[in-house]
Amino acid sequence: MTFAIHGLAVARGIAIGRAVLVASSRVDVAHYFIDPARVESEIDRVRFGRNAVVDEIHRLQTSVSHMGTKEAAHELGALLDVHLMLLQDEELIGGVKHWITDRLYNAEWALTTQLEVIARQFDEMEDEYLRERKADLEQIAEKVLRAMKGDGSAVVTVPQRPARKRPQQDVLLDDTVDVPLVLIAHDLSPADMLQFKQSVFGGFVTDVGGKTSHTAIVARSMDIPAVVGARTCSQLIRQDDWVIIDGDAGVVIVDPSPIILAEYGFKQRQRELERGRLSRLLHTPALTMDGQKVDLLANIEMPEDASGAVKSGAVGVGLFRSEFLFMGRNGNLPNEEEQYQAYRRAVEGMQGLPVTIRTVDVGADKPLNKSARDDAHLNPALGLRAIRWSLADPAMFLTQLRAILRAAAHGQVGLLIPMLVHASEIRQTIALIVQARAELDQRGVVYGPVKLGAMIEIPAAALTLKMFLKYFDFLSIGTNDLIQYTLAIDRADESVAHLYDPLHPAVLRLVADTIAECDAQGKSVSVCGEMAGDVEMTRLLLGLGLRSFSMHPAQILAVKQEVLRADTGRLREWAQAVMQDEDPGQRMGRS
Ligand code: PEP
Ligand code: MG
Repeated sequence: MTFAIHGLAVARGIAIGRAVLVASSRVDVAHYFIDPARVESEIDRVRFGRNAVVDEIHRLQTSVSHMGTKEAAHELGALLDVHLMLLQDEELIGGVKHWITDRLYNAEWALTTQLEVIARQFDEMEDEYLRERKADLEQIAEKVLRAMKGDGSAVVTVPQRPARKRPQQDVLLDDTVDVPLVLIAHDLSPADMLQFKQSVFGGFVTDVGGKTSHTAIVARSMDIPAVVGARTCSQLIRQDDWVIIDGDAGVVIVDPSPIILAEYGFKQRQRELERGRLSRLLHTPALTMDGQKVDLLANIEMPEDASGAVKSGAVGVGLFRSEFLFMGRNGNLPNEEEQYQAYRRAVEGMQGLPVTIRTVDVGADKPLNKSARDDAHLNPALGLRAIRWSLADPAMFLTQLRAILRAAAHGQVGLLIPMLVHASEIRQTIALIVQARAELDQRGVVYGPVKLGAMIEIPAAALTLKMFLKYFDFLSIGTNDLIQYTLAIDRADESVAHLYDPLHPAVLRLVADTIAECDAQGKSVSVCGEMAGDVEMTRLLLGLGLRSFSMHPAQILAVKQEVLRADTGRLREWAQAVMQDEDPGQRMGRS
């Protein structure tokens, strides 16, 4: 039966495919497709893992009989019997074989997929005792996964699949291995997202998350349709269900009828045509109708994204979020050489165009490791994040600064500092940059000049611009956080997403004043938050005087189209009127 789930539209486009539910297993599970020739060996890997756990249970059964009271031994013995029974369950074994043989999933993926299928059946059981056996199932699956990890087989964590055509309507009739897949999860961390970056998945949906959560930002950078904050999607959608993700409307349609499917197939084709039309603007300079030059820059997460940025017509990188180099490494942070090579690859990848590297911004919804969500602090977004984290560990920060300075010998580099607010933080940061240079001098290592920039993303910073402009060559407005901190709305929390408003008069005031102050002092300023890539905001930002926008490469041509149609002389007056409105969102048709 067809039904729809509503969430937040975060990455545009339509994806049609079969659902892959990612179980919230505590073990990192690799997802990749195997070569058909490996089917048997992959089944053997699961068998190996299962047999290892069966043996362990048999050993435990022997020792249990000598343990504690008779009742306790009996109870534990019964539990182990249940575990053995679950391990030998035909449905588990048969299902795993099916996913490996028919879908070519790797062993771990097949096991967790089948686990999810069976867990659903447990959820629906009337009998409470049986329902509770789901926890046992999860326990044994985790044990099998661990045993498999220890079997010495190579684990590839990035799911890859050969390029395939975009899904068409008739793909539903084709139930071979080459069906498109969409990912359904309760939550995905930014580090998870990075793993999925070159993955098999054509779209994804999560239960939680806000529009400018970092998971959503990475989805946009991947340019695949995505919906977040869909609350119950991971409970309502079943493994292998056919799903349409409408990333424009924020709707997920499960088990679509042929008519709905035809309609969305049409929408998909329209979007392809639109992309084709926009691609003609690639080499057109971004000039407004009245001849104002506008810089359209790219936001990137990894050095390898630089080539995509150049291909999309970016005139530089306005924001390289360096923290993605630090994530998912179990605390082994990249050393100076590794960071230097990464920054250098980004700089060289931009072929002479400028690259602004932001120093590490971890914390809040960007934990270093996905399991390390900051539950210990009540308000992680207000805690030890970004520059605060860097200044708390000067050795780590100096390592990064040296690496960036060294990369600056290979091209034009801007060094951007996130979340500054106090004069003392500014002074400490500058002192550490001086120290980093001195250390490189001492070692005789070559480094280059950098322009120094500050992110304006805390209202207090936007209200003390003169101080910032005294120390910095340029400013970059981080609207994602500026909105979060001005309106006291957690950007990652879907339950308050309706209040997260880029057009709130207070936000517009802070953005407008920052642009005007930089203009007055002849310093450059850009916006690098999601607002810069939102075509509905382009005219307003141009009217407020902005001439530098940094966004996901996929958005550049759409924003360029807006720039080409704009007359900044007329927009200036209109933007002032919008600013005076008590509800600018309504005036612009957004609410
Ligand atoms: C911002 O806050 O607008 C920004 C660009 O930084 P991030 O999204 O990484 O916090
Ligand atoms: Mg920010």
